[in-house]
Amino acid sequence: MTIRAVEFSRCACGKERGYDDERTAQKALGRAQAKRDRAGDRRGSRRGLCRENRAYECSEGMWHLTSQSRSEYLLGAAA
Ligand SMILES: [Zn+2]
Repeated sequence: MTIRAVEFSRCACGKERGYDDERTAQKALGRAQAKRDRAGDRRGSRRGLCRENRAYECSEGMWHLTSQSRSEYLLGAAA
């Protein structure tokens, strides 16, 4: 069985991966985390792995994944 990749496209804000809605972004987030968890288990540690942990809506109305904390995100959004 082939698992179809989550659809994403380049966003006008400059991010490579933009999702059309929160649901799609959350789906991609869950998939990315599951993939990382498996990789971390093999290595015996999850340290050093890039880890997006939440989705947010950008100024262009698309959704992205980020590993930034909320405060970092707010600082970036204000810039
Ligand atoms: Zn964007």
